[in-house]
Amino acid sequence: MSNHVIIFDTTLRDGEQSPGASMNQAEKLRLAYQLEKLRVDVIEAGFPAASKGDFEAVKLIAEKIRNCQIAALARANKQDIDRAWEAVKGAANPRIHTFIATSDIHLKHKLKMTREEVVQAAVEAVRRARTYTENVEFSTEDGSRTDIEFMCRILEAVIKAGAATVNIPDTVGYAMPQEYGMFIKSIMEGVPHIDKVIVSVHCHDDLGLAVANTLAGIHNGARQAEVTINGIGERAGNASLEEVVMALRTRQDWADFTTRIDVEQIYPSSRLVSMITGMVVQPNKAIVGANAFAHEAGIHQDGVLKHQTTYEIMRPTDIGLKSNAMVLGKHSGRHALKARIENLGYELSEEQLNYLFTDFKELADKKKEILDEDIEALIAERILRIPDRYKLLYLNVISGTVAVPTATVQIEADGQQLQGAGFGVGPIDATFNTIKNMVGTRAELVRFSVSAITGGMDAQGEVMVRLQENGFVALGRGTDPDIITASAKAFINGLNRLSYFKENPVTTVEL
Ligand SMILES: [Zn+2]
Repeated sequence: MSNHVIIFDTTLRDGEQSPGASMNQAEKLRLAYQLEKLRVDVIEAGFPAASKGDFEAVKLIAEKIRNCQIAALARANKQDIDRAWEAVKGAANPRIHTFIATSDIHLKHKLKMTREEVVQAAVEAVRRARTYTENVEFSTEDGSRTDIEFMCRILEAVIKAGAATVNIPDTVGYAMPQEYGMFIKSIMEGVPHIDKVIVSVHCHDDLGLAVANTLAGIHNGARQAEVTINGIGERAGNASLEEVVMALRTRQDWADFTTRIDVEQIYPSSRLVSMITGMVVQPNKAIVGANAFAHEAGIHQDGVLKHQTTYEIMRPTDIGLKSNAMVLGKHSGRHALKARIENLGYELSEEQLNYLFTDFKELADKKKEILDEDIEALIAERILRIPDRYKLLYLNVISGTVAVPTATVQIEADGQQLQGAGFGVGPIDATFNTIKNMVGTRAELVRFSVSAITGGMDAQGEVMVRLQENGFVALGRGTDPDIITASAKAFINGLNRLSYFKENPVTTVEL
């Protein structure tokens, strides 16, 4: 058996189901390009039958990305499968990923189908998909809680029908590593012709075991891991790509597994996902957290200085965490900015570059050194976000120990210029109140955080907000050397996203 593990990234499908993490089409495409650079084997681009927006996004990604397989999700019915194929058929290597629940608990309470009927539906779905492509994946929703004998039976049937990959999700994040590993082993031993297909694992993190379960599955014969960047996903999320890949890479002495991943693209990918979705990575997160490579305790520092391997099992440069050697500033020209942007992996049109250069000059007037993170933040705000419904044009805030905090704001809303003023308990509150009144929103601010995106006293503030309205959640992000301006930008970004999500709701699939 080959030691190569296929990395199937589902950040765009399962990851997008994280509350508030929905992405617009431009953001999805940008992320897909990054995943291609990261060299994932398969990109699950979405669920085309869910909505027109999802369909369009999958189609666009299928057409643009040439070096990864592009998968589209479909329930086990004719309409979903046909729609999935319509969306992915333009890909260099398209995949149809169809699924049905297999556990008794789902059969009884959700599907209200017998085991016979489920096998029948699965076989028909795989056959239908096979009329379009040989690259068919079949998933057993709630697989880890499925009776092993029934699991073997349904897998035997779908393999016979032509499935090339069979996936065993731990949909509800319930499995224990040893148990899940044994489950995969029983499948490897109990299903005829299982060696002719790829067995895949897809684990959720409800008990914090998604990565452990994924590794247990691989150890017992699985050769595809379904993962997301930063582990984002529904509820507690999915197994994180960076943790699975770096565990396999760091512990080759444990088992000699290989992946196709360009690990130096891990950190840029993590940053991009965090920037696009507004979901901040916790500082103590393995691999990509801000503290993951910070050896701050004195004793550790001493140890690291003496010999790097005393405490460091990985180097920060392994995952593409660079000390910012290239710094741009006030006197850097358009050409230098362009070169830097290309180096970061972005391809911009001349027009986009012009916008960005203006923003860059403005920022350079306020901040001495412009680092990669600053440039990425500018790109996120300027390029990935158009078309926006609301734009900030002008902000003036008065506050201090004696003044009543007052904000005067000018925005553009649906092409119209609006102006307003208002008070609050503080300058940020005054700004938010004023904007809320101007656009007439009932969105509630449920979370607010501010951090510095780089080191240094003149670092830009990065503000994240979480807004909620009628059950819709949106995260907004804004950066600026002035944190009140950053807050206004974040709030407006949140409102833009909220308005987009209300028009393009994400359909949730439990898988
Ligand atoms: Zn899932």
